[in-house]
Amino acid sequence: MSVYQKCIPHEYHASIFEIPYKTLKEQGINSLFFDLDNTIIGYDEISLSKDHVKLLNDLGKDFNVVIISNTSFKRVSLALKDLKVPFIWHAKKPLKCGFKKALKLAKVNKEEVMMIGDQLMTDIFGATRYGIKGILVKSVKRKSDRKITQFNRKLEAIVLKKIEKNLPELYEERLKQYVQDH
Ligand SMILES: [Mg+2]
Repeated sequence: MSVYQKCIPHEYHASIFEIPYKTLKEQGINSLFFDLDNTIIGYDEISLSKDHVKLLNDLGKDFNVVIISNTSFKRVSLALKDLKVPFIWHAKKPLKCGFKKALKLAKVNKEEVMMIGDQLMTDIFGATRYGIKGILVKSVKRKSDRKITQFNRKLEAIVLKKIEKNLPELYEERLKQYVQDH
């Protein structure tokens, strides 16, 4: 499987509030791994809104929820201070180590997990190459992307073109809307 094939998400949704979690549960998913920056909150935001806290608390009743972030302990712990959710910081996505740790924390198999994130090159590629499915969401705020993310977005544009060319049906179904939304 080439890189671009591992960048195809299971689904795309406009935000974490739009994901059909009930359906995922019916499909055998019992754990949700979330990216933090630009998936839950923008890079320029420090804390979660009440709606985010409620959503993640509610999801915690039905799923093992783990946050996997490439950012620092300080930032993640501060953002999640109102929640009792385990998290991995400096996860180094798309490397496998963060996903591995999260699986250990949740005590589950890869097939039971859905990774949810806003970046093809870290969240989706990282999860898929390790055997975990991924849901892509619209970035909270594209303008607040950090430098490294801006670089990843350039790679992403190349990958998106490849998928559009070689797998037009999958592109249409799972990525076209993502491109249009940004
Ligand atoms: Mg992100």
